[in-house]
Amino acid sequence: DPVLRLTGIEKVYNAGTPGEIRVLRGCDLEVARGEVVALVAPSGAGKSTLLHIAGLLDTADSGRVEIAGEAMQGKSDRRRTLVRRAEVGFVYQFHHLLPEFTALENIVLPQLANGVARQAAEDRARGLLDSVGVGERAGHRPAAMSGGEQQRVAFCRAMANAPKLLLADEPTGNLDPQTSDRVFAALMDLVRETGLCALIATHNLELAARMDRRVRMEDGHLRAVD
Ligand code: ADP
Ligand code: ADP
Repeated sequence: DPVLRLTGIEKVYNAGTPGEIRVLRGCDLEVARGEVVALVAPSGAGKSTLLHIAGLLDTADSGRVEIAGEAMQGKSDRRRTLVRRAEVGFVYQFHHLLPEFTALENIVLPQLANGVARQAAEDRARGLLDSVGVGERAGHRPAAMSGGEQQRVAFCRAMANAPKLLLADEPTGNLDPQTSDRVFAALMDLVRETGLCALIATHNLELAARMDRRVRMEDGHLRAVD
């Protein structure tokens, strides 16, 4: 089974009103273990909507979402939350780290919510921070770190519960080119080392070119690029 399988995903906003927008009109996509797929589209095309549906934060009007072989439509909110916590990691353009907690705590907390014991959670958090070169920032709050460091911490947080699927929405969009490059390299290393797979929405065609495969969102459909 692919880690993520989307079949015929449709989404309409403001249905039946003058503001009706048919954002997704039948999106099909499979992402296999170990694969990094770029999702390329102009702003407003529906990338965030698709990522939220794929990550079980939102529901489609029709179509199927399968995560690690489990069909998610019709499942209870509780089941969807459990699957999201255990199998999906999110990274956004702005890192959304909790400002009052240290880098370490930001990575420990999602693990505690997932039932991991504190010591094990701290050990894993330190290992993750080291792996992307910000181990020395473990005790710092976000405000004391650079944008690139914060974004690397955000990747560690997304990886905290060893998800099978990483979803990222313009993860390097707010960083300068050099920092963006380092953050992206750290992400690719994590994916390669863990056998994770990732769907990464980006406007950055240079970054997209370095991923395994590219899909373009056009008129509510996904098409392979190349
Ligand atoms: P992208 O991430 O590609 O910029 P989005 O998925 O955020 O696109 O949005 C796609 C379209 O759907 C846009 O026109 C946006 O204004 C609209 N949209 C997104 N979320 C909502 C919502 N909750 N209610 C109504 N319209 C929305
Ligand atoms: P918690 O374990 O704190 O209850 P959730 O299970 O609600 O967290 O969320 C799991 C992941 O989904 C987290 O990485 C969180 O950042 C993300 N998330 C939750 N709700 C939203 C949302 N409305 N928009 C974007 N991301 C969200």
